[in-house]
Parts: sequence; structure tokens; C-alpha cells
Amino acid sequence: MKDNNGKLIVISGPSGVGKSTISSEVVKRLDAYLCTSVTTRTKGENEVDGEHYQFITTEEFNKGIVEDRFLEYAEVFGNHYGTPWQPIEDALEEGETVLLEIDVQGGLAVKKVYKDVQLIFIVPPHTSDLKKRLDGRQRGENDESRKKRLQGAGEETAKAWQHYDHMVINDDLETAINEVIEIIQGKTGENT
Ligand code: ADP
Repeated sequence: MKDNNGKLIVISGPSGVGKSTISSEVVKRLDAYLCTSVTTRTKGENEVDGEHYQFITTEEFNKGIVEDRFLEYAEVFGNHYGTPWQPIEDALEEGETVLLEIDVQGGLAVKKVYKDVQLIFIVPPHTSDLKKRLDGRQRGENDESRKKRLQGAGEETAKAWQHYDHMVINDDLETAINEVIEIIQGKTGENT
């Protein structure tokens, strides 16, 4: 078990639920650190390399695995995603609040290493909202991949209900942001 000064927060939720929107606001308001994941998937038109993801080749990814650089990694719909542990460890040692935007499987893997992590799952008010939000977002994904994401969302949500510390409904954005901030600041109990 790791014992650090900073707080580690995992934000998960189905694709299109508003994770990035919420995380970037929380990062701004709390001056927190959003850890960039690496991925081998294609960069979307509106995405900036290094901002949310660092886009790397499969060779680089495999090298990262061999060199034990990832706190957790997974293959999702044929693409590889990984969370490098060194930047997290450094930020926590500096006493920073560190946000990770990863899937439920990743969140549970992180909890095995960092027992004090707060696992937050964002849910949409209605499933149909997810489809609308995914359609309105262009991230180098085709229709098939979007369909698969919607199907996977149910399974992830069920797992999160079982194992996550907090479920936050993203209906009104401002309310959801404030709920996440209260959780981070420790003003909210477990399983809210
Ligand atoms: P994720 O990171 O979970 O995939 P995004 O943050 O990219 O999701 O949000 C997907 C889309 O939904 C974006 O266009 C965003 O502006 C919109 N969105 C996020 N939260 C809300 C909300 N509470 N109400 C309406 N639209 C929202």
C-alpha cells in the first residue's frame, strides 16, 4: 500500500457522460493535476496530443509494459490505454490532488495499489442522453465503435454500483461539478 500526502481521485463513467467536462472544471477550480493517459488509438480531430491523451505507437506501448511504466493498462475495442504511474507518484508526493480519468476496471486496479483513492462514477440522467452526447462529439470514432461503447456502458455501471465509493449524476453540470468537489474535499460520506 502506498502512503502519500496528496489525494488521488478516479473519475469513471460511460463515454459521453461528461467526464472530461467535469474533470477539467475540477482541475481549474481546485488547481488539481489531471494525469494524462497514453493510448494507441487514433487522435480525434479536436484532440490535442498531450492534453488529454498522449498518443503513442503500439511499439512504444509495448515497451512501456516491459519497462513496468503503467499503474494499470487495458485494451478497449482493439486500442490500448495505459496510466503511467511515475507522474502520479511525483504529484502525490508534492501534496497535489491528482485526477485520473479511467475506466472501471482501471479504477479497481488503482484501488489495489492506492487504498485511499476515491472512486467516483459519473452517471447520465437518462441513457438516451449518452447517445446524444456521443453523437455531438467527434473523437476519431466510427458508428460501430460508438455502438459498442453504449453497450459496454451498462456493464461498467453495474460494476461501479458494486465497487465504487461515489455515484454522481450529471444532469445539471454545475451541480455535478460541485458534488465531485465536495467528495474530493471530504464533505460527503461514502456511497452518495
Ligand atoms: P466523456 O469525457 O465522459 O466522454 P465529455 O465530457 O466529452 O464526456 O462530454 C460529452 C458531451 O456532453 C460534451 O459535448 C459535453 O459538452 C456534453 N455535456 C457534459 N455534461 C453535460 C450536462 N450536464 N448536460 C448537457 N451536456 C453535457
